Amino acid sequence: MPTLPPGVAAREVTDPDVKRTYAADASPASSAPPSDYTVVRARDVADVVAVLEHAQANRTPVVPQGARTSRAGGAIATEGCIVLNVEALDAIIDVDPLEGYAVVGPGVVNAALKREVARAGLFYGPDPASWETCTIGGNVATNAGGLCCVKYGVTADWVKALQVVLPGGEVMRTGHRTAKGVAGYDLTGLVVGSEGTLGVVTEVLVRLAPAPDPALTALAVFASLDDAVAGIVALRRDSVRPSLLEILDRSSVRAVQAYGDYGFPNDCEAVLLVQSDRPGHAGEDVARYADLMAGAGATEVAVADDAQEADALLEGRRVMSTAFEALGARLAEDVCVPVARLADFIRGVETIAARHGVLIPVSGHGGDGNLHPSIVHPYDDPDALARAWLAFDEVLRLGLDVGGTITGEHGVGSLKVPWLRLELGADELDRQRRLKAVFDPLGIMNPGTVFERPR
Ligand SMILES: Cc1cc2nc3c(=O)[nH]c(=O)nc-3n(C[C@H](O)[C@H](O)[C@H](O)COP(=O)(O)OP(=O)(O)OC[C@H]3O[C@@H](n4cnc5c(N)ncnc54)[C@H](O)[C@@H]3O)c2cc1C
Repeated sequence: MPTLPPGVAAREVTDPDVKRTYAADASPASSAPPSDYTVVRARDVADVVAVLEHAQANRTPVVPQGARTSRAGGAIATEGCIVLNVEALDAIIDVDPLEGYAVVGPGVVNAALKREVARAGLFYGPDPASWETCTIGGNVATNAGGLCCVKYGVTADWVKALQVVLPGGEVMRTGHRTAKGVAGYDLTGLVVGSEGTLGVVTEVLVRLAPAPDPALTALAVFASLDDAVAGIVALRRDSVRPSLLEILDRSSVRAVQAYGDYGFPNDCEAVLLVQSDRPGHAGEDVARYADLMAGAGATEVAVADDAQEADALLEGRRVMSTAFEALGARLAEDVCVPVARLADFIRGVETIAARHGVLIPVSGHGGDGNLHPSIVHPYDDPDALARAWLAFDEVLRLGLDVGGTITGEHGVGSLKVPWLRLELGADELDRQRRLKAVFDPLGIMNPGTVFERPR
């Protein structure tokens, strides 16, 4: 690999053990690091510019990287690449309460931004479950969602302007600071969700909203999956959108209860968790949500009337990842389907699980139809792993068959590249490739992520 320019060479990670930690992300796509790769930890925009000038001149692939929490394999080192980590660009540059925005570096951790703006009585909406570790740059690149999307939308709904360094080192500014703005194409919208395939995001301007109240929670248990989905439909039709609406199917409930007693009955078909954070009205909202779920057929309903109890009701949801990991290794899916097809999808997944002899708990953001089937298989069992991948393929195809998408919030990454062609079709995929080439004519930005690696 060509030698890095002198200014950037000082930012290279040379300790092999430390370097290895930058080669993988939180996805099953991560395996042994490649034999030849470089890791650069940028300290400022000038470092990013220098790396992208150098990479373009030498046709070296660049993998932009935040906190490496990608579930889709978008942030992993590939052969001959420079991993360009921007976590150290973590300044909260400006919080403007009058205009209602914050300007931040891409390395700012989601939770840090939320806490900082809360001090000014303001609120930043997107809340991926990884919020204590993932970065705003990674959230922008993946158009991250989270638990509160049902009311607050995804990252794209909060990003107004960006600074992006393009291959070759050109600095591009997109968007506007004002409340409105339609001058020219929406290049901000194009970069959001582009998974590091167009350039490196080096500054983000996000909109802020007035802070909501602490959320209150209602939890409902259902003996029938159809009733649980009827509950979701009733809640979505309410004139006040819940700020959270999560579902756990039967296998998820059993996995959580096997991990510890979180108060769920083992024989139920589904559990719904719903919250309101409406200033001054959260209590009346969750009482109404409880009635709606009872009306839909819930067999048990619990309502939390203070923030501490509300938090306790969510505990079972919070430990879910750990509960699954206690059962085995897993391939985490991220399918989004129409709400009306939720029951069809969950039942279809049960059939796939039975066919391949694997466990697939389904849980997630029921209010958005965004589910995370987790294909659990025993550790160190190659045969079970092979069956898990067959199930992975069938779950994605089922999602498409019921009118959904292969990824609601995690992105295509390197993991779902073959299925993107299924979803988009050859013509649309080709159009998207040509769009990428406008920004990245040599194809050096994150090759193998979103699109197949060029031969
Ligand atoms: C326990 C757990 C829970 C999760 N829950 C959620 C959830 O609820 N909702 C959700 O949406 N996701 C979730 N995720 C996935 C993940 O946290 C998100 O995709 C997150 O946005 C990634 O941020 P990151 O800083 O870790 O980015 P990374 O993982 O480092 O990178 C992710 C992608 O963004 C690109 N990228 C990163 N920074 C930049 C930049 N500055 N410029 C250009 N490209 C860049 C990378 O190349 C890569 O393609 C979860 C992950 C874990 C491990």
